[in-house]
This record gives sequence, C-alpha cells and structure tokens, in this order.
Amino acid sequence: MKKMLEFINLEKKTPDKRATSERKKDFHEIYKEFIKDKAQEQSSRCSQCGVPFCQIHCPLHNNIPDWLKLTAEGRLQEAYEVSQSTNNMPEICGRICPQDRLCEGNCVIEQSGHGTVTIGSIEKYITDTAWEKNWIKPLKIKKEINQTIGVIGAGPAGLACAEELRKSGYQVTVYDRYDRPGGLLIYGIPNFKLEKFVVERRTKLLKQGGIKFVQNFEIGKNKSLYELKKNHDAILIATGVYKSREIDIPGSNLENIFPAMDFLTASNRKGLGDKVELFDNGTLNAHNKDIVVIGGGDTAMDCVRTATRQKAKSVKCIYRRDRENMPGSTREVANAIEEGVEFIWLTGPKKFIGNKQVAEVQVNKMILGLADSSGRKKPEIQENSEYNIKADIVIKSLGFDPENLPELFSAKELSVSRWGTIKIDLNTMQTNIDGIFAAGDIVRGASLVVWAIKDGRDAAKQIQKYLKEKSIKKINIKAA
Ligand SMILES: Cc1cc2nc3c(=O)[nH]c(=O)nc-3n(C[C@H](O)[C@H](O)[C@H](O)COP(=O)(O)OP(=O)(O)OC[C@H]3O[C@@H](n4cnc5c(N)ncnc54)[C@H](O)[C@@H]3O)c2cc1C
Ligand code: SF4
Repeated sequence: MKKMLEFINLEKKTPDKRATSERKKDFHEIYKEFIKDKAQEQSSRCSQCGVPFCQIHCPLHNNIPDWLKLTAEGRLQEAYEVSQSTNNMPEICGRICPQDRLCEGNCVIEQSGHGTVTIGSIEKYITDTAWEKNWIKPLKIKKEINQTIGVIGAGPAGLACAEELRKSGYQVTVYDRYDRPGGLLIYGIPNFKLEKFVVERRTKLLKQGGIKFVQNFEIGKNKSLYELKKNHDAILIATGVYKSREIDIPGSNLENIFPAMDFLTASNRKGLGDKVELFDNGTLNAHNKDIVVIGGGDTAMDCVRTATRQKAKSVKCIYRRDRENMPGSTREVANAIEEGVEFIWLTGPKKFIGNKQVAEVQVNKMILGLADSSGRKKPEIQENSEYNIKADIVIKSLGFDPENLPELFSAKELSVSRWGTIKIDLNTMQTNIDGIFAAGDIVRGASLVVWAIKDGRDAAKQIQKYLKEKSIKKINIKAA
C-alpha cells in the first residue's frame, strides 16, 4: 500500500507546459499529460486531512482525498468511479477550474509552505485515463419513466441537469440555439485551455445515453416558453449570459471594435472547421494587426492569447487596476505574459479615434483610490495623463449581462433580479412559474463551469422531486 503524506519528501510538480515558442504556433492545450508514475507520486503528497478544506472549497464537494489516495495506490478505475460520482465533467474541471481560488487554494499543505497537491491535474489525469481505457460508457437506463423535461441551453448547467435526470430514467430533450451542444465550452473557451474533442466526446456520450438534442432551436424565436412547456412536464432554463457590456466613450461606433464573444466564437468555429466569412475576409482575424483588448478577466486573457496565436503584430491588454487587482486567474495572466502579451495596467480608455475604422485608443493613466463597497480599490483618472495606443482591432471584454429573457421568451411574468438574472427559490430552484426551473450563469451571473455543473445537478434533484409529487397528485386525482 502506497504511503501518503509524502509532501515532506516530494516536491510539488505540475505537468510541464509546452515551450512558449512552440505553443504560440498552434491552438492545442499548453499543458503536457501527467505520466502514470508522476500522477501516483503527486497524489501521495496529500496529507489526508480529517477536515479536507480542498473538498469544502470545491463547489461540487468532490471527494478529493479519497480519489488522491486511490490514485496513489494505483487503483485508477476506483479513483475514476469516486471522482465521477460528484462531477459530470471531471476532465473539464481538471483543465479549466481556477484551482488557485478553489480546491488547491485551500490545500492545507500549501498553507504550511510545501506547495499544494496538484488536484486539478490529477483529476484530469484520472478521467482522461478512464476515457482512454474505455471505462466511460453511455448511460444504461434500468426503468424508463414516462415524464419529460425540456432543458433550454446545452452549456454545462443544462448538460449536467440532463444527465442526472436521464440517469433516473426521465425523457430529456435539450434545446439550444447554436448548431453544436456545449455552450461556452464550445464557442467561448479557446482550444488552448480546452480542446473541443474533450467536449464533443461528452455530448456524444449523452446522446448515446438517450438524451435528445434539438440544435438551432431558439426559445423565443422557434417557440415561446409556454409553447415549449406544453410539450414537457418540467422545464429548465440554463441559457447563460451573453449580452456584452458596452464602453460608452466617444468613438464607440467606429468599425473594428468588437465584443469578445464575436472574436472568440469566430476563432473557435475556425478551429472546428467551419467557414466563417468575417474571419476569412480578415475582419475578425488578428493576423498582422495591432490588437488592443480592454478588460482584465478570464475572457480578456482568452482574447489576448487567441490574438497572439493568430500572429497579431502586437497584442496589448489595457486594464484600469493593477496586476494584483485583476479579476482573471493569476495562472492565465502568467501564461499570457509568457506568450508575449503586453499588459498596460492602471490604464483606462478615454476615446476611440479613427476615420470610419478605429485607428487608435486614447487612454488615461489611473491611480487606485480608496476601496469601494466590493472591497476593491477604486480606479481614479490621473489628470493630463492621456496618450494614444495604435489599434487595428479593439476587443471589448468588460463582462456579460443577461439578455432580457421575459421579453425574449414572451413570458413577461418571469421574475428577474434588477441585473436581469432569473430569480429562483433557492430551496426548490424553481422560478415564479410552476414547473419552470433555472440554473447556471442565468441565475448567478457570469461565473464558472464548476458552479454551472453544481447548479445543474441541484436542479435535477429538485425537478425529480417536483415530478414525483406531480405523478402522485395525478394518481390521487384518478383514484378520487
Ligand atoms: C471566454 C470565456 C472563457 C471562460 N473561461 C472559463 C474558465 O477557464 N473556467 C471556468 O470555470 N469558466 C470559464 N468561463 C465561464 C463558463 O464558461 C460559464 O460560467 C459556464 O459556461 C456557464 O454555463 P451555463 O450552462 O450556465 O451557460 P452557457 O455555457 O453559456 O450555455 C448556455 C447555452 O444556452 C444556449 N441558449 C441561450 N439562449 C437560448 C435560447 N433562447 N434558446 C435556446 N438556447 C439558448 C446558448 O446557445 C448556450 O449553448 C468562461 C467564459 C467565457 C465567456
Ligand atoms: S472540480 Fe474544480 S474545484 Fe473541484 S476538485 Fe476539481 S478542479 Fe478543484
């Protein structure tokens, strides 16, 4: 039996990254695979805490110490079984969770100065091995249940909910306005963080397990919410948040200023082999251009790194706070710097300059003032600090808001918060309309994949409870 608590003897090791010069030439993932011995060795560093803070701070409460111990002992198939019992996409979370803020950031041996157990890489290794060894099989339903659920949105929240309900035997149909399932996993997050085959093999598995997918089907356009509800016993809304936040400064209407999602979707579609006119004619292609990205979150990091791979002449990221106060994951900022992105911190856009098309961004230097209600220092404009930065393309990456769903869905009474996110009863995950539930970013606002999975799983439990009560009521009415 493998000894644990090896953190005293073994140093923390993460899988190697590909050399910057090599990885900038393509869109493949940048981390190499853990080899078996390394995964085993690194797992044995876990201190098997009585109260595992990693597990507490993982939104899915994954049984991390258990699967680390099983991996250390070479019992990988059992490790996989434990890992998949709480997570519908462990290999995806292992790749793209900001572990430094979640599980790994709360690892006790990290706090004692020994360097965290590399939980994310091991989680990825376990499930990638399970795929390789063919341990992952489509769902086999023991007993079909004659009740149907319509899931609107094939992102991680919708997919996790669909899978959990199908496991119990319900008839599930997922509707999505895009041509491929996966939501932001397919059209938002770039390949160098998450290769698309990883997402596609998951959705293929769900189809093989009996979940129906209706693509190119937009609720609000092809059917209203109430029309859809007539076909199902319950509905889940998991439509994410897609309205790009605008920059309201002079020159905003100039050409070649794009929202981040237009740029990323075009690039992801190209990677998937689609014909993308705006990319092919150069409009959304950074090749040989000066690119300015405005924003400091993960989406901005994905934009600058995509532009670098498209062989831009220069890539600059302007952000109004400093590096310490950037909302993006520190890992992704470091990757972008390694790949040659120039960060201009403490800088905000003042106006866009150009004749029809943007040619320059006039910026102000900023200083950080007192902390605001969020606890973050408020950036203030430094007087007479303007200067211009050359730009052929500007990408706006200031976050996302929800679309106006009550209007889009022709369901004016659907209750939303003042930010436009859907209001739910936190115990039942039900909206104010009977039988209609909601989960993921459309409830939380722009968040993380792991939270979307957690919400999808919780919604599935609540929908199941609702449907059971509904069928009991039906039986009682018939009997009366
Ligand atoms: C560029 C980018 C990078 C990110 N990187 C990371 C990361 O590294 N790590 C991480 O954890 N998180 C990351 N995120 C956040 C993460 O992707 C989201 O939190 C997560 O995808 C939300 O899941 P969801 O299922 O709620 O919504 P989504 O993934 O947005 O899926 C919603 C789906 O609903 C569909 N839809 C919307 N409206 C309708 C309609 N009316 N009718 C039918 N279908 C509809 C959409 O087409 C979409 O497929 C990133 C986000 C972005 C934008
Ligand atoms: S799901 Fe995310 S937070 Fe949870 S253990 Fe995996 S990498 Fe960590």
